Amino acid sequence: MTKHIFVTGGVVSSLGKGLTSASIGCILERRGLRVRMQKLDPYINVDPGTMSPYQHGEVYVLDDGAETDLDLGHYERFTNSPLSRDSNFTSGRIYLRVIEKERQGKYLGGTVQVVPHITDEIKASVLKLAGPEVDVVITELGGTVGDIEGLPFLEAIRQIPLDIGRENCLFIHLTLVPYLKAAKELKTKPTQHSVQQLRQIGIQPDVLIVRTERPLGRDNAEKIALFCNLEKRAVIEERDKEFSIYEVPLGLIDHGLDLLILQKLGIQAGTCEMDDWEELIQRIRNPEHEVTIAVVGKYIEHRDAYKSIYESLDHAGFSHNSRVIVKRIEAEELEEADAATVLAGVDGLLVPGGFGMRGVEGKIQAARYARENNLPYFGICLGMQIAVIEFARNVLNHPDANSTEFDGNTPDPVICLLEDQKSVTLKGASMRLGAQPCDLVEDSLAARTYRQSSVSERHRHRYEFNPKYRQEMADAGLVVSGQSPDGKLAEIVEIPDHPWFLAVQFHPEFKSKPNLPHPLFHSFIEAALQRQGERTGASV
Ligand code: GLN
Repeated sequence: MTKHIFVTGGVVSSLGKGLTSASIGCILERRGLRVRMQKLDPYINVDPGTMSPYQHGEVYVLDDGAETDLDLGHYERFTNSPLSRDSNFTSGRIYLRVIEKERQGKYLGGTVQVVPHITDEIKASVLKLAGPEVDVVITELGGTVGDIEGLPFLEAIRQIPLDIGRENCLFIHLTLVPYLKAAKELKTKPTQHSVQQLRQIGIQPDVLIVRTERPLGRDNAEKIALFCNLEKRAVIEERDKEFSIYEVPLGLIDHGLDLLILQKLGIQAGTCEMDDWEELIQRIRNPEHEVTIAVVGKYIEHRDAYKSIYESLDHAGFSHNSRVIVKRIEAEELEEADAATVLAGVDGLLVPGGFGMRGVEGKIQAARYARENNLPYFGICLGMQIAVIEFARNVLNHPDANSTEFDGNTPDPVICLLEDQKSVTLKGASMRLGAQPCDLVEDSLAARTYRQSSVSERHRHRYEFNPKYRQEMADAGLVVSGQSPDGKLAEIVEIPDHPWFLAVQFHPEFKSKPNLPHPLFHSFIEAALQRQGERTGASV
């Protein structure tokens, strides 16, 4: 029988519920359990694909092409749980499904209501992940207890124990215990209120995980337990981590969470195997080198907009015993300033994905600087398109070359829509999405880095490298080193006559893990370390 863990949050948003859920998945897997992860998001968008990164941070793409919440990135980085379209449901998607069924007459004349029809659809979406090959499903509920739009979800998870047995369900609630400087005290009242709100809905949490800047202390833990109707050992402290988010699972184990979950759900499991993870944390805490990478983007002040890129850079750093310092540069800044000044002291340049005109010219300036000055360049999605436009303008001498996304009348559309995208008018889920095969050209930097002849990577874009310019570019030194198996789509370009200049049409950042960095990121950081060595005269 599959067991279910529900993770809710209270007091404030941005508590790190996704990270905590992923860490719970991690520590249960490390005890040999087969885990599935899922996120329920109460907003009305059918998926986050249509949302601006300012609203919602990065859109995380899965192999099956699902555009999902960025917490699923944490799930993939911390666990091996296979994720799919069924790993992320929003209110919009649930309602859409119910309304479609209503239009098809599936409710046989009944009045369609939030309870039971919406709640039944939510329950079905949760229970769908259970099965003989799954020990535990962890379902994280987005938002904060008390949000109006979250109510149908809370009602649905309240009902699940009635359907499958209370002993098969565990409710974990995550709250904040703030420290008030003026009072010199940690305050437990918001946590008490949050649990009260949950209990009003009919959910008594079994475990409370308490985010805190300072040690919670026995008195506070006991007080919370008493007022929230919990066992003392079920109040778990989750202190802010000094070095890295990857320390969270170890902290939870130190506070006995893995054992507590197993006992409460009546699961027999093996001992917790965390040796490699502990070794990873040691490396993170004691880096031998530091390397600076510039990320030139358009949503730079929003930390979550390039979440997986920053994580992937960190992972590559871990494997080189290095701390990666990211210099976040607003692309528009480069439109006025001199690239050499802005990029001084930087050992590698990464241009990430993006949509729309703003900042494009600044990114082109940055790419030019990297190409002309032997600075390692890593272009991702839009970052590849930028590299191609820059090369066309400044090497091929097509001064007005552009992507038709930015200039519909360019005489040199080096990036353009291919035929099958031209008729697309709908915005949602209409891009080239998800895992696609890519064949690598023998002996290219790409092939040497992946050590494979064919790879699969995830896409999320509409525009493509225009095949008409391929030969002209290759003759001038920018070659296609990865392409779709039918040869039609350019997936990777590189400049062989440059220490490290590689750009990809896909998103490798969705496939990097802390203990298994993505090969392209690994190689990029290696090149940046080398560049730094040359720059400073130090041997790395
Ligand atoms: N805007 C570009 C396109 O749609 C790049 C997309 C991206 O970087 N994800 O092709």
